Amino acid sequence: MKTQIFKVDSDNIDNTVIGKAADIIKSGGLVAFPTETVYGLGGDGLNPSASVKIYAAKGRPSDNPLILHISDLSQLSPLVSEIPENAKKLAREFWPGPLTMIFKKSDAVPKETSGGLNTVAVRFPENRIAQALIRAGGTPIAAPSANTSGRPSPTRASHVEFDLSGKIDMIIDGGACEFGLESTIVDVSGEVPCLLRPGSITLEMLREVLGRVDVDKAVVSKLDTGELPKAPGMKYTHYSPSADVVIVRGDRDKMVHKINELISQVESSLKIGVIATEENKDRYKNCEVLVIGSIKEPGTIAANLFKMLRKCDYHKIDKVFAEGLCEDELGLAIMNRLKKAAGYCIIEV
Ligand code: AMP
Ligand code: MG
Repeated sequence: MKTQIFKVDSDNIDNTVIGKAADIIKSGGLVAFPTETVYGLGGDGLNPSASVKIYAAKGRPSDNPLILHISDLSQLSPLVSEIPENAKKLAREFWPGPLTMIFKKSDAVPKETSGGLNTVAVRFPENRIAQALIRAGGTPIAAPSANTSGRPSPTRASHVEFDLSGKIDMIIDGGACEFGLESTIVDVSGEVPCLLRPGSITLEMLREVLGRVDVDKAVVSKLDTGELPKAPGMKYTHYSPSADVVIVRGDRDKMVHKINELISQVESSLKIGVIATEENKDRYKNCEVLVIGSIKEPGTIAANLFKMLRKCDYHKIDKVFAEGLCEDELGLAIMNRLKKAAGYCIIEV
């Protein structure tokens, strides 16, 4: 299959391209498109065969459900069996935006889309190109991240092209994604709301609106054998570049010293990279420094994380040391992705 690629400017959306993309969605095909979180691989979420195609293109396990994307609040009620009060509060505050909520599903959602669960994940994205596509398609769009399963999520159209060219019908190139981490996922289907995946809508922001919000264990730590995360996708290995990744975290000077010490111990034939913040980038020796953003602006780190993990592969780096961050606010989401990329290998200093 030949994948068509079109550039679209979100300030001046070309409706001919959106129309073509919507026709592909309506006829059961797949279109990758930008959202404010990461690029999504979209198909008609109510068409079981489109969902099956999404799993195949990504190589995604079929028990890992898809998020349905809507462009208007009125599209929510047909997908769910009830809209709890907590969901209404979160929607008022954070939709459209980088927040996904889990509801009890209605019969309209095919089991192929919900991964066989009796719940469904729904998000109302803010990105204008995403909204235009969903509106034109006239259906909720199922859209997981548009990467090959296991690889870092795509934050640029070139990442999607690298992973999925030849496997999908179209890529809409809308430039770099604003937030760069996948959406926050909150389960609002039970008594107490529960954070299943941290993102740019932080736990602190959710608690400010709802009061009590529990946190699924998979958000912060590796699960024991036999334990299952509440978001099925959180059990799979993720984000891993081919390189071996180690996180070093602690007092700034000690951390820099430890990373330099670890570099000096690596076999000389191996290529070493350090994922470093702006503040420390000039302090590492005998390695390639990948600058990820500034500690003072965690949003820059979130926006660059997946690009840096992909860069480790492009630059054929064998061993990566990454500076660890504090796990509050946006740091919780960044560290959640980084820990998975490192297979939970963290040295605290
Ligand atoms: P992605 O679309 O690649 O960002 O992945 C979607 C994430 O949402 C995966 O971790 C899924 O397991 C999770 N998810 C989707 N639907 C549900 C659901 N009904 N219950 C719990 N988690 C879900
Ligand atoms: Mg994903």
